[in-house]
Amino acid sequence: MTSSEIRRHFLDFFRSKQHLIVPSAPLVAKNDPTLMFNNSGMAQFKDFFLGNGTPPAKRVADTQKCLRVSGKHNDLEDVGFDTYHHTMFEMLGNWSFGDYFKKEALHWSWELLTEVYKLPKDRIYVSVFKGDEKDNVPFDQESWDLWKEIIGDESRIILGNKKDNFWEMGDTGPCGPCSEIHIDLRSEDDVAQKPGKELVNADHPQVVEIWNNVFMQFNRKADGSLEELPARHVDTGMGFERLCMAIQGKQSNYDTDVFSGTIRVIEELSGKKYTGSMEKQDVAMRVIADHIRAVSFAIADGLVPSNAKAGYVIRRILRRAIRYGYSYLNLMEPFMTKLVPTLAMQFADVFPELNAQRDFVATVIREEEIAFLRTLGTGLGRLDQIIGQLTTDGKKEIPGETVFELNDTFGFPADLTALIAREKGLSIDETGFQKALQEQKARSRKDAQASAGDWIELAELDNKVEFVGYDQPDSYAQIVKYRKIQNKQGTQVQVVLDKTPFYAESGGQIGDTGVLELFNGSDQIGTLTVLDTRKENDLSIHIVEDLTGIDDLLTQADKVYAVINTSRRGLTSSNHSATHLLHSALRDVLGTHVAQKGSYVGPDALRFDFSHFSKVTDEQLAEVERIVNEKIREDIKLDEKRNVPIEEAKALGATALFGEKYGDFVRVITFDPNYSVELCGGTHVPATGHIGLFKFTGEGSVSTGVRRVEAKTSAGAEALVNEQMAVLNEVRELLKAPKDRSAVAVVKAVQALLEERSALQKQVEALQNEKVQQLKNQLLAKVETVNGHSRLVEKVDVPTADALKQLAYDLKAKVDNLAVVLGADINGKPQLAVMLPDSLIQGKNLNAGQVVKELAKNIKGGGGGQPFFATAGGSDSSGLDAALAQGKELLG
Ligand code: ATP
Ligand code: MG
Repeated sequence: MTSSEIRRHFLDFFRSKQHLIVPSAPLVAKNDPTLMFNNSGMAQFKDFFLGNGTPPAKRVADTQKCLRVSGKHNDLEDVGFDTYHHTMFEMLGNWSFGDYFKKEALHWSWELLTEVYKLPKDRIYVSVFKGDEKDNVPFDQESWDLWKEIIGDESRIILGNKKDNFWEMGDTGPCGPCSEIHIDLRSEDDVAQKPGKELVNADHPQVVEIWNNVFMQFNRKADGSLEELPARHVDTGMGFERLCMAIQGKQSNYDTDVFSGTIRVIEELSGKKYTGSMEKQDVAMRVIADHIRAVSFAIADGLVPSNAKAGYVIRRILRRAIRYGYSYLNLMEPFMTKLVPTLAMQFADVFPELNAQRDFVATVIREEEIAFLRTLGTGLGRLDQIIGQLTTDGKKEIPGETVFELNDTFGFPADLTALIAREKGLSIDETGFQKALQEQKARSRKDAQASAGDWIELAELDNKVEFVGYDQPDSYAQIVKYRKIQNKQGTQVQVVLDKTPFYAESGGQIGDTGVLELFNGSDQIGTLTVLDTRKENDLSIHIVEDLTGIDDLLTQADKVYAVINTSRRGLTSSNHSATHLLHSALRDVLGTHVAQKGSYVGPDALRFDFSHFSKVTDEQLAEVERIVNEKIREDIKLDEKRNVPIEEAKALGATALFGEKYGDFVRVITFDPNYSVELCGGTHVPATGHIGLFKFTGEGSVSTGVRRVEAKTSAGAEALVNEQMAVLNEVRELLKAPKDRSAVAVVKAVQALLEERSALQKQVEALQNEKVQQLKNQLLAKVETVNGHSRLVEKVDVPTADALKQLAYDLKAKVDNLAVVLGADINGKPQLAVMLPDSLIQGKNLNAGQVVKELAKNIKGGGGGQPFFATAGGSDSSGLDAALAQGKELLG
């Protein structure tokens, strides 16, 4: 069976058991503060388990793209070193939302594995939760009995502890026992020597867990206690790549057809053969074959490598692959980018988003590779220096702090430092490095810490929070629940209403602010200011200040009147609609490769990031701006359609964003069906005329292949124009050129002014030169002869200290054996210059530096220089004559 057939059989099997087959959610998690990437099949269904919404069906199945590189599940360091953990993998799953439970789930899993996939029954082991007295959770008797009936052999059922067989969503929330299915893929000989049962959960590469069936039956509260859930759910996850290994009779996931295509290309690029060993060369090939999937799919789902958050995680994965290629396969040129086409083809049917963007993905990866290979070069140079210094000092170990710094500041990985150090006969202080790393981790954990109290439930939520904010700015509502959270801002209170006009931040548009007026009967008992509205999964959360007595207020309120700040919302809507017009205009002017990569839509401004590989020129920007403003003046009416079936929306040509998760029904925002049709949940103006005016304020690069434009609309654009006009008027006033009011006239006047200025400057310089020449001639006439050398001591009139110095040098060139002291008052500041001939320096042991210091005392100053020439400045010009008199004496 090929891997595609294996996947298809899974979905067909559960379809035949009345499951709805749904698409995978994007790799990047949305609206979930606890999760950066989707790391399991159930992540996209969390809300249904929490009771915050209704699933599309009671039985659902899919294959989900998962990424386990951060947080609770982080397998990154194992990848490549073992043969069955990946960064990105597919998790096949089936779910029951309050429908079937253990019996059906376990029976079906056995049926699928042994009858459809025909895996050998005697190689399968299952585990059952043995209970935990301390936690007050019982032995899972039901699963035990079911398995005994299904397999008919107790010896293949294993009792598992809390770590392996009890699943929890987090510190609080749904949880329950689980039952794992393991398979023994060893040879007959090995099996005869040691029973597989002893190797289950023992990290053996051929005795691996393939499937986990989780049974959610409890809810854990903040105080640690458990309560039974009213509706019980099934959540299962099977590792697709491991399943392929088992069915295709391989010893490693990398030997299946999921990876063999990519490995073949790596072999071609490196000229080396993959042998499946634990040698570094083979580890490197596995790392690369694995990481290219994680990186490509993450980029296809809208991420770009960057220096923060999820983008940084992707950058690090990519860099890990690059340096394995660099260190162990001698790949010194970009190579990851060359693996993209093979991957895109392979997944074109299941995950078409990669194939659709494969040029973009390949280019982003290539640019990252070029930049990182350069970093590696810089790091190597720096490391060479460090090693050189340490060797000179007779040291044999690179300090942990240095390894950490190389890693943190230069992106130079620790294991590469160790490798190079080893080649030069040095080692690294691994313990010191780990310590520095832990310290940094502790620092960032502390920064991110936020703790949440239990939700205080005040009313039942029938289905889902109803958002009424598309149609009205205010609404009466009921408080569903609230809780307090502690974060960097201190304590805040999160309030959930059954119905709300407040838009919760999403799709780039920021959350509404406003007030909640609390009523008890007809009495208003308080008002809460809403600072922000955010989404947590599908819940809209109003964030309010923690007032004293807020618990009483919230629990006593039987009704809430919720009102948004409408002027702020209006400005935000203007910016959002303008973003749609902008998106289309950019595609018109730059080309259809332009795809949205991110946006910010607030009341103050808008920002739009999009895929494009070169700077947007001033002419292109001007053209885009012109088109957007034209569309504004056309006053195109908003056409808003809600609950459009997704297929119908796509048929309308609606622009969907890669990496966004859309439901079966979507909202379509149209401004002229021939101009802008987008899937969007944001708020918009009733007609484009409301936007008023659109002005760009900036253009720049965000990261490789992604540009950013910034703009203002409406009152913000008006303020911008006014400000610019005010500047122009002021300049016009200053120029006193009021006759011709045009901007061209102002520019001309400024140009004329600049030309005049440079002509004048030349004239001034010429005059000054002439004056210094005259001065020099006058001074030459005043040179006296004393004690066998020439002497000149004079007060002169020069414009700058430089001119004074130049004068002294010029005089020296004209007269042999000349000693000079010149004094000048330059703009109120006294200045002295002393020049001595060799005869005085050697013969009389004089030094211009010392002489000028002595003389400068007269002008309350100081100075210095060389033995033959020195200068000094001071603060008292009235002492200049005294200084010169003293100079005359000293040089006599
Ligand atoms: P393991 O102990 O092998 O790391 P797990 O307990 O973390 O597995 P679950 O969270 O139960 O696994 O995930 C369900 C299934 O997904 C597993 O049975 C396994 O087949 C697969 N799986 C888990 N992690 C990975 C991974 N990093 N790469 C590939 N498959 C995985
Ligand atoms: Mg794991």
